[in-house]
Amino acid sequence: MPRVLRSIPAPALAWVVLCAGALGAQPAPVNRYGNPPSVKPAPTTGAIDVRDLRIRLYQFADDSMQGRQVGRVGNRKGTDYIAAEVKRLGLLPGGPNGSYFQVLPYHLRRFTEHSRVAVNGNPLAWNVDVVAVPGLRAPRPILNAEVVYGGVQGDTSTQISAAEAAGKVVVLLPPPGGARASQGPGFQVRPGAQRARSRFDDAVAVATVDLDALTPAQRVAINEPAVATQIAAPRMAPAAAGGAGAVDSLPLLKDQLAQLQPQAALRLTRAGAAALFGRASLDGIAAGTKGGRLNAALEFVELPTDYARNVVAIIPGSDPVLKHQYVAIGAHNDHVGFTTPVDKDSVKAFNDIRNRMLLANNMEPLGPAQLATVKVNMDSIRRVHPKARLDSVNNGADDDGSGSMGVLEIAEAIMAMPVKPKRSTLFVWHTGEEGGLVGSAYYVRHPTVPIDSIVAQLNIDMIGRGRAEDLPGGGDDYVAVVGSFFDSKDLGETVQRVNTGQRRPLALDYKIDEPIAWAGYNNIYGRSDHYNYALQGIPIAFFFTGLHGDYHQRSDEPEFIDYPHYARITSYIKELAVEVGNGPRPRLNGTRPAKPKAIVP
Ligand SMILES: [Zn+2]
Repeated sequence: MPRVLRSIPAPALAWVVLCAGALGAQPAPVNRYGNPPSVKPAPTTGAIDVRDLRIRLYQFADDSMQGRQVGRVGNRKGTDYIAAEVKRLGLLPGGPNGSYFQVLPYHLRRFTEHSRVAVNGNPLAWNVDVVAVPGLRAPRPILNAEVVYGGVQGDTSTQISAAEAAGKVVVLLPPPGGARASQGPGFQVRPGAQRARSRFDDAVAVATVDLDALTPAQRVAINEPAVATQIAAPRMAPAAAGGAGAVDSLPLLKDQLAQLQPQAALRLTRAGAAALFGRASLDGIAAGTKGGRLNAALEFVELPTDYARNVVAIIPGSDPVLKHQYVAIGAHNDHVGFTTPVDKDSVKAFNDIRNRMLLANNMEPLGPAQLATVKVNMDSIRRVHPKARLDSVNNGADDDGSGSMGVLEIAEAIMAMPVKPKRSTLFVWHTGEEGGLVGSAYYVRHPTVPIDSIVAQLNIDMIGRGRAEDLPGGGDDYVAVVGSFFDSKDLGETVQRVNTGQRRPLALDYKIDEPIAWAGYNNIYGRSDHYNYALQGIPIAFFFTGLHGDYHQRSDEPEFIDYPHYARITSYIKELAVEVGNGPRPRLNGTRPAKPKAIVP
């Protein structure tokens, strides 16, 4: 081999030879981590290796997946990929009704084209001069309600009183400089969240005059939400829930009513608003000015979506008895979606500098003064990328693309075993982890195998980084193991035994089993899906290579993953799953379910 080639590290060389040999073309440039900017889809093998993990992760964390947010089409794209792969690999469907999908009740809510808003019998142009903002439920009806000008949005000094607004349709003008256009005056509440009180709570509807700044398409989009949501039950009055002591439940009752039949939220153009008052314009209108009588037929529909799915698949065990028990392996298939576009290279540079500062600051949170000192050298970036490369997608390559694709590689490797583990292996790719462990909570409440037959759950969330530049103690051998001894000493010992039995054991880090004061590391144990299995008394082990500068950033991209390290951890967890699948059932430390140690820093 020519001397010049001997100096190139193996993985990069493989890449160079592959390209030069196969295509005779220029080898693709690789970054300082040895990763190319893109990787073409190609068949994978039964072996767990860098090539396969790259092929999978570059697809699963591609911009086209739109950050795989639960409730959005991006999550369907990601779960379609996983389901197609487990089907191709020959795993059995593990979801309800012989499907690979366990669909969560996420709906898109909107008002149909049959909706009407009219003042004194004169209709306003739907989706042009008036748009109704869909909330979580059908709003209370607007029947011949008097219109009143309520003042300036957000400026109570200009507004009418709650008594003057009660039972009316209140019209609000935006403050000078424009309204917080994104959200109407406090109507859509996040499921289960405490609703902010407003002096207009007793109004039949509140209309904000802020449509003129939007294009016709943007106006229609208000009523075409792209994010499906699931409804949480309205908060119960503590009395009803057996809470001790007399409470003033009237506000809570009103709160429940407001949640069960929310106030309508309307948005208007200035022309539409003027029509409500029978005026040519709103100029000079005084708070309390009365308008016409408003009637609205808002036809609210809830469209079920497949934008929130757990993917569930099974490899049956080889033992006629033990195959009725399951070793569960999981990861989360969602991430946080997309947001406003920024220059991807300066964001990456900023995040790298900030993380270096955090390490130098002993992982103590950085203050605004420190962060203000971060200077990104745009000249060096512009030398490589003369034009800004805009990026709006949170790709979630590490979080949790690495876990999801690692679990897929483990499935492929176990499928390739001539003799399968004695117990069955249950694979669950949970959705909605970023939304509060929603998918795993749903799975353990609607298990597709008897919950008592799950002997352990191995959870993987972020195993694609863990370099020395990412966290203290990071490196080629680094992996944190969390919670493995909490419920079952047997499982904890098996985790260690399998590791020491490997050709190159990993350096298992247990410090996150205890509270840790590093910035961003609060309650790691309670922040991923294993927690819901632990609450059911199932012994768990959680694998994690730590946070880093690109955590929940647009720069969490597949080309920044440490694939050799990632492949080693994935192979190790496969060995562990097989060992637990063949060995004695891990015994619980205490009675079932053992209350997990709540870790609050
Ligand atoms: Zn995650």
